[in-house]
Amino acid sequence: MTLVEGNTPRARTAHDRDPQTEAVIDLEAITHNVGILRKFAGDAALMAVIKADGYNHGAAAVAQTALAAGARELGVTTIPEALTLRNAGITAPILTWLNGVDADFVSALDADIEIGVSSPRHLESVVAAARELGRPATVALKVDTGLNRNGVSRADWPQMLTDLGAAHRAGSVRLRSVFSHLAHSDEPHNRVIDLQKQRLIDAVADVRGLDLDPEVVHLSNSAAVLTRPDLRFDMVRPGIALYGLSPVPELGDFGLRPAMTLQARVLLVKKVKAGDGVSYGHTWIAPRDTTVALLPLGYADGLPRILSGRFEVQLGGARRQAVGRICMDQVLVDLGPDGGGVREGDVAIFFGDGSRGEPHAQTWADALDTIHYEIVTGIRGRTVRTFRGGEDPK
Ligand SMILES: *Cc1c(COP(=O)(O)O)cnc(C)c1O
Repeated sequence: MTLVEGNTPRARTAHDRDPQTEAVIDLEAITHNVGILRKFAGDAALMAVIKADGYNHGAAAVAQTALAAGARELGVTTIPEALTLRNAGITAPILTWLNGVDADFVSALDADIEIGVSSPRHLESVVAAARELGRPATVALKVDTGLNRNGVSRADWPQMLTDLGAAHRAGSVRLRSVFSHLAHSDEPHNRVIDLQKQRLIDAVADVRGLDLDPEVVHLSNSAAVLTRPDLRFDMVRPGIALYGLSPVPELGDFGLRPAMTLQARVLLVKKVKAGDGVSYGHTWIAPRDTTVALLPLGYADGLPRILSGRFEVQLGGARRQAVGRICMDQVLVDLGPDGGGVREGDVAIFFGDGSRGEPHAQTWADALDTIHYEIVTGIRGRTVRTFRGGEDPK
């Protein structure tokens, strides 16, 4: 077991030797999940998507773990995210795909980052950066096949091809890959998926018609990797499944293991009398003499206030109901009249992989009518990230 400091949700400091509130990241779970995804990917390579600081699990540690487990490349949204990984000593191929036309492409190229281009305007900026540096830019052509978000639109496509051909002949770019992103990957039978697949195939044919020969074509995010083997192309691009959360919960967990456990130590145990109101607004009145435990996690740390009274934690060997309002910094749970043997300093688990009887990030997502992606990326504030398992992510 290793315990290493992270940078967010909050930097671990000397004062955090025994943090009150932790997001514990199990790197062995990441290794396990990469193994599962590689099986589903077959011969296709695996790009680990570690945008948003590794879905809030710690990008550098996740990257190192995923690469050691056989991931070949890394995917992030922005150039600063990519540069942070380079600064952490990661030398694997990194693709960045969401940058403005005025982004710092010079720094990206200088750090050997592959750049996703979504318009002729982007390409022009990247070409200018390549000229400034005096070497070709490695680019990935992002094709909008129907999501209508990032990616080259159909209106821009003819111009893009012309400009790409010219940039290639001038030696300013090397087109390494062509990729796209799905609109309905969590509905494996949706026909838009087939339409997007065909449009990507057509786009690749157009590019090959220019005498450009991209090495890699990729389309699949987590849901597609697990449900649509026909979309693998040369590489797959999973994010959420690396972290152990099923992208299609109604189809099961695919053997994935959630990597993040959110937990806090009990700060205070106290008795309340029947009829006593608890927390702001006294929205909960003790129906009987009981005992409550105070936990140091609040809405400023990513526990949504709208979950007040609507979630449970695993504590003292049982599920305990949250009671009263969630505050900025703290929340209470009902331990029952006998206190259940819970003592100050005991660990309450808000969500995790379920192996200790605790709820799952999906439980919160269901209660909030959202997706678990938003739950794990929303943990913040005073929560300290610690790593367990795997090698020291230096
Ligand atoms: C976030 C993202 C992914 C990963 O998606 P998951 O659903 O988390 O697997 C893949 N590709 C692109 C372009 C993305 O933005």
